[in-house]
Amino acid sequence: MHLEEMKNEIEKLVITKGFYNKPEDIPKKLLFAFIELGEASDAWKKGADQEKIAEELIDVIFYVLDTSRLACPNVNMDDMFEWKLSKNLDRPFQYGEGHRNK
Ligand SMILES: [Mg+2]
Repeated sequence: MHLEEMKNEIEKLVITKGFYNKPEDIPKKLLFAFIELGEASDAWKKGADQEKIAEELIDVIFYVLDTSRLACPNVNMDDMFEWKLSKNLDRPFQYGEGHRNK
């Protein structure tokens, strides 16, 4: 399943379950993404199994894609992923991590 398909499935879930679904809900969705990141970190810290950690990371992806649906509905996230991957591949080795050489 590609990001755009995932976005559509998440939209169906949001509508079916009556979750927040308005542009003014975007800050809440971003906060929930951070909370899920915290849950992933906590699971890892506590030695949870890989499936539990992966589940929390998927929760992050859900909220991120759900936010993209409302915040930038005209952007194709599959195209954006390809573009961003290419941009990052064009950057130098260890870009942004210069402190590691000091
Ligand atoms: Mg969770």
